[in-house]
Amino acid sequence: MSMDSIVSLCKRRGFLFQSSEIYGGLQGFWDYGPLGVELKRNVKEAWWSDMVTAHDDMSTLAGAPSPYAMEGLDCTIIMHPQVWKCSGHYDLFHDFMVDCRETKKRYRHDQLNGRWVEAKGNKIFVTAPASDEEQGHMTKRALKFFNLRNKHIDDLKWEGESTCLTEMTSFEEVLGPDAKTLGTLTEPREFNLMFKTYVGALSGEEGAAYLRPETAQGIFVNFKNVLDSTRHRLPLGIAQIGKSFRNEITPRNFTFRSREFEQMEIEFFCHPDQSKDWYMYWRDRRLKWYHEMGIDSGNLIMREHSPKELAHYSIGTADIEYAFPFMAEGEYGELEGVSHRGDFDLRSHMEGKLDEKSNPLTLQLGDDGKPKWKGSGKDLNYRDDLTNDKYTPHVIEPSAGADRATLAFLCEAYTVDQQPDDKGKMQERIVMKLHPRLAPIKAAILPLVKKDGMPELSKEIYLDLKKHFNVFYDEKGAVGRRYRRSDEAGTPYCITVDGQTLEDKTVTIRERDTTEQSRIKIDECEQVIRDRINNG
Ligand code: ATP
Repeated sequence: MSMDSIVSLCKRRGFLFQSSEIYGGLQGFWDYGPLGVELKRNVKEAWWSDMVTAHDDMSTLAGAPSPYAMEGLDCTIIMHPQVWKCSGHYDLFHDFMVDCRETKKRYRHDQLNGRWVEAKGNKIFVTAPASDEEQGHMTKRALKFFNLRNKHIDDLKWEGESTCLTEMTSFEEVLGPDAKTLGTLTEPREFNLMFKTYVGALSGEEGAAYLRPETAQGIFVNFKNVLDSTRHRLPLGIAQIGKSFRNEITPRNFTFRSREFEQMEIEFFCHPDQSKDWYMYWRDRRLKWYHEMGIDSGNLIMREHSPKELAHYSIGTADIEYAFPFMAEGEYGELEGVSHRGDFDLRSHMEGKLDEKSNPLTLQLGDDGKPKWKGSGKDLNYRDDLTNDKYTPHVIEPSAGADRATLAFLCEAYTVDQQPDDKGKMQERIVMKLHPRLAPIKAAILPLVKKDGMPELSKEIYLDLKKHFNVFYDEKGAVGRRYRRSDEAGTPYCITVDGQTLEDKTVTIRERDTTEQSRIKIDECEQVIRDRINNG
């Protein structure tokens, strides 16, 4: 299945639109249409219900070291600027960019690869964006640069393997990915990913603030408030769903890398001695959730970060990754990161500095040798009132993207199969096999024909079911066509009112995936739909 067919279905059926499309769109921003908004709400509601409100805090769940509590939070997008200084985002949340003086294009320093090549007595380092096709791109560029024809491809003498531009110390011999001359790339420059804004009437630096690049910090700074107001003992998880903003340099792959997106994050606070067990618990729990929501295990992997990849404070991180159709064969894109953050965050907000084990970059010492960013100075430690044990809790963070999850569910659901039409002839059908909990519309109510009182009765059933579920009434066109339309929208059930309904008050209920139909009483519709949604 190609990404193009999914993107086109999303637009055609109203799942996703480009933001500000009538003005040519804005890169990295997407709007959810009528079906998309319901789907994404259902993704967030399923997460919130499974992780927070329906969480069983009385039992020890499979794999968990003990019972635990869960609470929710909804914090502001703009927070005190000091939050981002102490979290490290102000100083460290950036990408390095190189500009091309010739083409005025800008590239991420770590996303350009290059290789030395010699021809006609000249040696250059030819670059291309890192990808499966980079060698083809480099060859084309080298032929052009040396003014060689395709048939002279063997005159190009390649040296060494392809390496990242970050390995180069001088750019004089470098041919930029789109440049005609050598040495047009600038030195790498830092580019902070946080969107800046100004609070109040102050337009100078005193009023400067940032749109949050993650929801997590709101949870850390409220840790004590939640603890005090709920009187929970640890372990405790605090969850938040909300918008985050990152001025991504290269937004791409539909909603996968956007500049405005939603996160679903949990910060799980526990005793340091148990944190490794909790880390293992959350990795497995979160992977299982995607399986339960209908993602085939063959398309999902858990990738443990190598020690080199780990953030300096992280004791362990595992990404849950999905085989998105836009990735190369065998490659996966991150849906969620589960990381063991130790006591890094609470300590930073207390002290504004980090311990000696941390990366020296984050020590942030000022000229006087004192920590550059002051923490809140508040005591964010935890005292267990039963044991009197006092400690800085460790944190496990399962951090998911609502938009990436929604995109993965869309990709996973997209299916093309063959089904008989009204006349029994096999026809290709596009069906979105979304989990019934996630499906934007739960049932379509269809009168078989537009006469004999069928529309009137259908409307009665529709209005009754509407009180409980998002349902849809459709009387336009042949019933087979209406089934197809609802299959494409991912609607799991079609309720059809036919001649027999008028006699015995029964309707047919058709299953989207199997197209099987059975008869149920009108009075049973609500319960049958509810049971089937819950049983997936
Ligand atoms: P990536 O490496 O893909 O940029 P990340 O490691 O920076 O992601 P985190 O900071 O761990 O991502 O954010 C947690 C989750 O938030 C990610 O797993 C992803 O689902 C989501 N997310 C992060 N950046 C974006 C984005 N630009 N667009 C959409 N979702 C995002």
